Amino acid sequence: MITRNFFLYLSNNKLLKKKAMKWGPKLGASQVIAGVSIPEAMEVVGQLNEKGLVCTVDHLGEFVYNQGEAIEAANQCIRTLEAIENTKVHCNLSLKLTSLGLDIDKKICLDNMIRIVRTAKKYNNFVRIDMEDYEHLNDTLEILLELRESFDNVGTAIQAYLFRSEEDIHKLRGTNIRLIKGAYKESPEVAFRKQEDIDQNFINIIKTHLMNGSYGAIATHDHKIIDQVKAFTKEQGISKDQFEFQMLYGFRTELQQQIANEGYKMRIYVPFGEDWYGYFMRRLAERPQNVRFALRGLYSK
Ligand SMILES: Cc1cc2nc3c(=O)[nH]c(=O)nc-3n(C[C@H](O)[C@H](O)[C@H](O)COP(=O)(O)OP(=O)(O)OC[C@H]3O[C@@H](n4cnc5c(N)ncnc54)[C@H](O)[C@@H]3O)c2cc1C
Repeated sequence: MITRNFFLYLSNNKLLKKKAMKWGPKLGASQVIAGVSIPEAMEVVGQLNEKGLVCTVDHLGEFVYNQGEAIEAANQCIRTLEAIENTKVHCNLSLKLTSLGLDIDKKICLDNMIRIVRTAKKYNNFVRIDMEDYEHLNDTLEILLELRESFDNVGTAIQAYLFRSEEDIHKLRGTNIRLIKGAYKESPEVAFRKQEDIDQNFINIIKTHLMNGSYGAIATHDHKIIDQVKAFTKEQGISKDQFEFQMLYGFRTELQQQIANEGYKMRIYVPFGEDWYGYFMRRLAERPQNVRFALRGLYSK
């Protein structure tokens, strides 16, 4: 049986990465990654917009090791915001603070973020800070709060598997937050392990955040959670303008379309960039059934 650890091992294998970069499209990566360049990503976003789906794009980047690389990653984000503006697509930006230098120096990361969020503000656009592992949580929230003293067009994501999230969500009242189950391997000291506990906490924090009157992005492929959110918001008279659903590009596309057709805002997280290999392998690790993507790609012309 193909296991999660097998794909996590592949995600770190340099030789296979080199080979896979050549065979990417054949491996089926193009079904979940919108190309390697900004124009390719804008093309995909435009096509999704035509179907009534809005987007958030993420320029995939692996680790940065020095200030120059962190500044270049920020420049890429700014070029992406400019392309969104120029092509007039309905799309905002998602990014990770480690790719902007969080592990090198918090000040470098904050300066990069100020440049990006200021550019987004100029274009009336929004920047979402993806949440990474627990080790980066406090720094991420600190940077967010610092940014929010000057900007209202920035938010982050909160992970339902963490014990502390209910408390964090109260502190983030008034902020546009993406609510998610959480994707990293965390210790039982800080995170729920059982799926039913994570799901219950997910529902709790969604309800708390929406009842606080704050804007929420419910990011999940889990139809059971989505159905509960639809029922809860109807019951409480929460307007469809106060929340949106989010899913990853290429996953559950029929459900994405159905949700949009029902009049909900459905935002697709669209990753792109040269560094697609790690992202692709991590998605296979998360849900080995997705290997069918890869096989379909290999056996089709
Ligand atoms: C837009 C978006 C942004 C994200 N941002 C972050 C982030 O910033 N930080 C972070 O830590 N994590 C992030 N994640 C990942 C998230 O935390 C979860 O790890 C990931 O979404 C898997 O959990 P899930 O809620 O989708 O449902 P799961 O728990 O994976 O699945 C629940 C059930 O849903 C159904 N299902 C799920 N996927 C499929 C499928 N492909 N086809 C058919 N049925 C399916 C199955 O019945 C499954 O049992 C993000 C996810 C999304 C969608």
